[in-house]
Amino acid sequence: MADFDAIVVGSGCAGPVAAYELARAGKSVLVVERGTFAGAKNVSGGRLYTHALRAVFPDFAAEAPLERRVVRERISMLAPEANVTVDYTDDLLRTERAESYTVLRARFDPWLAGKAEEAGAEYVTGIAVESLLKDGARVTGVRAGDDEITADVVILADGVNSLLTPQAVGAARPALGQVAAGVKQVIELPERTISDRLMCADDEGAAWLFVGDATHGHVGGGFVYTNRSSLSVGVVATLSDLVTAETPIYQMLEDFKRHPAVAPLLVGGEVVEHSGHLVAEGGFDAMPPLVGDGVLLAGESAMMCINAGYTVRGMDLAIAAGQLAGQQAAAALSAGDTSAAGLAGYRTALEESFVLQDLRTLRTFPGFMEHATRLFVDYPAMARDMFRQLFAVDGTPVRPLRTTLPPLAKRVGYLNLARDVWKGAKAL
Ligand SMILES: Cc1cc2nc3c(=O)[nH]c(=O)nc-3n(C[C@H](O)[C@H](O)[C@H](O)COP(=O)(O)OP(=O)(O)OC[C@H]3O[C@@H](n4cnc5c(N)ncnc54)[C@H](O)[C@@H]3O)c2cc1C
Repeated sequence: MADFDAIVVGSGCAGPVAAYELARAGKSVLVVERGTFAGAKNVSGGRLYTHALRAVFPDFAAEAPLERRVVRERISMLAPEANVTVDYTDDLLRTERAESYTVLRARFDPWLAGKAEEAGAEYVTGIAVESLLKDGARVTGVRAGDDEITADVVILADGVNSLLTPQAVGAARPALGQVAAGVKQVIELPERTISDRLMCADDEGAAWLFVGDATHGHVGGGFVYTNRSSLSVGVVATLSDLVTAETPIYQMLEDFKRHPAVAPLLVGGEVVEHSGHLVAEGGFDAMPPLVGDGVLLAGESAMMCINAGYTVRGMDLAIAAGQLAGQQAAAALSAGDTSAAGLAGYRTALEESFVLQDLRTLRTFPGFMEHATRLFVDYPAMARDMFRQLFAVDGTPVRPLRTTLPPLAKRVGYLNLARDVWKGAKAL
């Protein structure tokens, strides 16, 4: 007989939700987390779309440590000395259907882990699972240090760059173009100052994404998210592009913070946290098998993350996948069959949910981004020059836009422009 019905590896977003579902179904479940506490090592830019969390915890808004509800979306094209921004606010963003909140993982993850523990999950922290116990192809437990712990089913929720996924389902390690590196700082400022600078009410905030000079023209982008009394500021760049970049990513972040569009937001702020982490960017086509004999994969261990340029989503996918993994594992345990066939309902449930549907819909976007180099240099410069024509009034006679705009497009190449618009539209 196994030590536990289920073992969950990792307590980020997917793990505790899977454990919560298993415990609620009356199964014995152990969560093994390598951080000294859940969330100790975890990073996100900061915005959680809460529809998935609501599906697990309908009352989350009253108790979860949320920062600010996001009601202002900004997307900027950043040239070295200029910035062109689309600024979107909408009452729809205040509705339950479409709401999202900023979160700080060092606060949010312990809360989520607490929900699993309250439901009856056992936790060990500060211990990394080094390898999986296997009987032939079947996963039978985990090895951590000198300890071997067995279970009828193991859920891998150990996040991006999982060392266990290849052991579990024989998947190849992700390629450099399928993973990005992110660095982020949390910069403390008075609550009122943040509200004033980002033009928000005190319990509301903004998500601001930047493309172009934030990564010195490399594939990736920058972000600013408003927390209650701090800003999360960071840059993310694809590894395949970073290896040849002349500027290291930490310097990109420093330069981004000094950009004239960003620097005024940070005046008087104090850096209270600095972190770095990988993020899965390969999308649907980079996903490993999600089910094996005695094992399920949920969240970024299975590359479940979407970077669609205008938004980054990993946490809602991980929470939904964790919920389905926990539910399907509990059903398979009750049926007495945790083979790959007995666990196959997990893949079906994901196919029926937004998780695989969204990943599939946006499956060509990562490939588009990787090759759309003009998006990061030429188009921000083109936007800058276009707006200069409109707003830089210096006493020289005005020339009609119909004569000044075409040369800007010609600089990029009409064909290139048409191709990028077509490919981008197709990928989204
Ligand atoms: C810079 C950056 C910005 C991002 N911005 C956003 C955003 O704004 N919105 C969004 O939705 N998503 C964002 N993401 C992505 C999001 O953070 C992830 O998709 C999400 O955290 C994945 O959840 P998870 O549960 O799969 O993995 P994680 O949250 O990474 O949790 C994995 C857990 O497993 C533990 N672990 C790993 N290996 C072991 C082991 N061997 N043994 C025991 N424990 C182990 C880790 O310590 C960790 O606690 C961002 C990511 C980065 C890096």
